[in-house]
Amino acid sequence: MSEKVRVRIAPSPTGHLHLGTARTALYNYLYAKRHGGTFVFRLEDTDEERSRESFTEDIIAGLKWLGIAWDEGPDIGGPFAPYRQTEKLDHYNDFAKKLIDKGLAYYAYETPEELAALKEAQKAENKAPRYDNSHRNLTPELIEKYIEEGRVPSIRFRIEEPHVVSWNDGIKGEIKIEASDLGGDMVIVKSNGVAIYNFAVVVDDVDMEMTQVIRGEDHIHNTAKQILLYEALGYKMPEFAHAPLIFDMEHRKLSKRHHGEAVHIDKYRIDGYMPEAMVNYLAHMSWTTVDDKELFTLEEAGELFDLSRVSKSPAVFDIQKLQWFNGHYIRSLPLATIVERSLPYFGHIDISGYSTEEFQQVVATVRDGLSMLSEIYGAAAFYFVPKIEIDAELKEKALSKDNAKTVLTEILKNLNQLPFGDHAGCKLVVDSLGKELGMKGKDLYWPLRASLSGKVQGPDLGSIISILGAERVKARLEDTLSLCPCA
Ligand code: GLU
Repeated sequence: MSEKVRVRIAPSPTGHLHLGTARTALYNYLYAKRHGGTFVFRLEDTDEERSRESFTEDIIAGLKWLGIAWDEGPDIGGPFAPYRQTEKLDHYNDFAKKLIDKGLAYYAYETPEELAALKEAQKAENKAPRYDNSHRNLTPELIEKYIEEGRVPSIRFRIEEPHVVSWNDGIKGEIKIEASDLGGDMVIVKSNGVAIYNFAVVVDDVDMEMTQVIRGEDHIHNTAKQILLYEALGYKMPEFAHAPLIFDMEHRKLSKRHHGEAVHIDKYRIDGYMPEAMVNYLAHMSWTTVDDKELFTLEEAGELFDLSRVSKSPAVFDIQKLQWFNGHYIRSLPLATIVERSLPYFGHIDISGYSTEEFQQVVATVRDGLSMLSEIYGAAAFYFVPKIEIDAELKEKALSKDNAKTVLTEILKNLNQLPFGDHAGCKLVVDSLGKELGMKGKDLYWPLRASLSGKVQGPDLGSIISILGAERVKARLEDTLSLCPCA
């Protein structure tokens, strides 16, 4: 590759950061890393009705959370700001005028009502909606009449038919689109003077010297329109590559309508997904490494990413697979990272009864069983509650036999033998007491587990005892004994 790679993500701030956009951002980012190139973040914010600053913030936060950093942009002190299309509206208009001067674009004066009527008529005839190119060759008299009526024109670009637009797609291979499928001459600047996406994107990709445009397959028809604009403006085209769409397990396209918040990256952050897992899963969803590696970091992916190994067929979003990745990272990231990320889930309770080190141990004992970090509070709450609630079912299961009272009494009697702070040591003491009593397994452990944690499964019993400490263990065992005989 001779020229320096320049790629971009160009979201419109008209919604939250979508999983598909995040995957596109990731592929562009990885492509830049792989080729020592530059990754640019540009906000396509010309749709003034639907763009919101809150969406911009959400997109920025999402990319940052995923660790997808962009390499340039306006200097605002600290990380770069994104480029914004609204900062250069006049510039797009200059390009539109160039097309008018060349006779490749023209002023069109139809009113929204006239356009709506055309659409209706086409619908009545069961025809796909398309502009009828009727203002292509207006007479000077008609133009004068429209101006006198106070009509403000939009600018339309001529789409000649018949014509086939074709390109060699970096992912999909050869693509051919009939110009007649592009909806007729297209508006490039609206009557309010604002350039529309398909036009501004070309001007920007030229200005910013993009070498590859990697985006979702839903843009294939846009690409055909954009190629016509590149040709008309006489600019060198980037390579285009279209990543497959993402479907759910029922073969429906991932969409806000069907899946609600589950299409937003932010939801996964809030639910306690690790960004490392999200990045790994998103990358892995449509791209495979030569040796079919499953687990990799963002950095490793940046060394290996290969556009030609991105699948042509739709990706399937499988939440269970994502949870599998997530569980892996919850178990394998440094404990300090998991502790720090866990803290918000404990925000509503007082954890000051435990030292920092003990709190780390709490996290260490429960993280193995989690598929989302938001589950951590449920898994660890028993360490913090002032009193363990034992319901009838648990009572029946763990405390109904005579042995329960014996176990609890014996442990209480030998409390001073338990080496609190030493998880394995505590377990040894329990086991040797069990031996003396001729008890093991459920008979020995379940009464203790039920009393100390309110359930019969969970972290290692030695760890529970060790972390809870003498006072809590004593209080909890005494509380349970007050329920006994329990049957
Ligand atoms: N604003 C478009 C989008 O959000 C950008 C598509 C492109 O990459 O050109 O889908």
